[in-house]
Amino acid sequence: MFIPLVFIFGVSDKRHPLAHGVRHGCRVCAMETPHHLVEVRRQLALFFIPAWRWNKRQVLVCNVCGHVESILPEEAEEIGRGGPDSPNT
Ligand SMILES: [Zn+2]
Repeated sequence: MFIPLVFIFGVSDKRHPLAHGVRHGCRVCAMETPHHLVEVRRQLALFFIPAWRWNKRQVLVCNVCGHVESILPEEAEEIGRGGPDSPNT
């Protein structure tokens, strides 16, 4: 006897904003522009329910052109603490 099983799954990138208005030099705009600091995680969803997350990384997204630049976790932590690229300095 054959019982059909249907699995609905998908893989996507989930973005979680960490900070806004971070001043950073954009390679595309060739000047210092405000950026969003975003945490991105790859996510596997099974029947539209998140089941597994991996590949966590931090990126800076340019507000002007939308260019995405990966940064090291230490740099993201420094920006979050109010480092040299933070909007508070
Ligand atoms: Zn830009």
